[in-house]
Amino acid sequence: MSVFGHLSLQERPALLRFCGYTATEAEADIVVFGAPFDSSSSFRPGSRFAPAEMRRDSWGLESWSPTLKRDLEDHKVYDAGDLELPFGSTEEALRLVRQSCSAITKAGKTPIMIGGEHTLSLGAVEALLEYYPDLHLLHFDAHTDLRTDYLGVRNSHASVIRRIYELLGDKRIHSLGIRSGLAEEFAFAEEKLDFHPFDLGGIEDAVRKIGTAPLYISLDLDVLDPSVFPGTGTAEPGGVTYQEMAAALYRLEALNIVGCDIMELAPSLDPSGASTAVAVKLLREMILLL
Ligand code: MN
Ligand code: MN
Repeated sequence: MSVFGHLSLQERPALLRFCGYTATEAEADIVVFGAPFDSSSSFRPGSRFAPAEMRRDSWGLESWSPTLKRDLEDHKVYDAGDLELPFGSTEEALRLVRQSCSAITKAGKTPIMIGGEHTLSLGAVEALLEYYPDLHLLHFDAHTDLRTDYLGVRNSHASVIRRIYELLGDKRIHSLGIRSGLAEEFAFAEEKLDFHPFDLGGIEDAVRKIGTAPLYISLDLDVLDPSVFPGTGTAEPGGVTYQEMAAALYRLEALNIVGCDIMELAPSLDPSGASTAVAVKLLREMILLL
């Protein structure tokens, strides 16, 4: 058994791990793990199947990025498998995410989480904040996720950024691409966050404000337009293209990135498989930036 749980890379058949992740647990700089959980999804569930589908789909994608001119096989990336998260207990799922991110960070490696629903980003931020007290969050999303609660539930994907705000405080959350939420959430965001709604045009400004601070990147994939990425539980028209999203990621290269996630793919909602391909390619580019 590995420190991060589950089978070692060598013990798992090739198709049950990501293509191009060739490092052992000990030598890895980057540890990718799946967090298959969608119990509190407010509309259409299905993101629990994202990690497994992305692993399988990764075998249809080259490990080399022509844009970045880098290959996954030259990076020390380890696939730690999926966490076993209990259905119906968001608090326990958050605890297990926190524990995993903490173990990976403590070992001097960078965690990358594959959701699962966006709620789980809270667990990762809580873990990293212990190691990086001046942590900032870069948040790509269609939704504000700033509700104080959703139908009385405090830990839901509609309130995850509000919970993170309560930890980080003013102007340490940089939100881009937001185009859906309540009027009071938008007012709150304008006042308390570094808020760049509707598109990714604010990326340069956000990068400047982040500076050298340790940064967690949370990519809720529904920031993409549903024409590009229909495979998500709460699709929201008016989003960005794949090229715009990738270009924004490429602007982050010089930042002090200490963890990332890629959330809210629900593969069964896009039977064409295109959404899964988009997610896998963005994950590759994200890893190659580190
Ligand atoms: Mn969203
Ligand atoms: Mn979200």
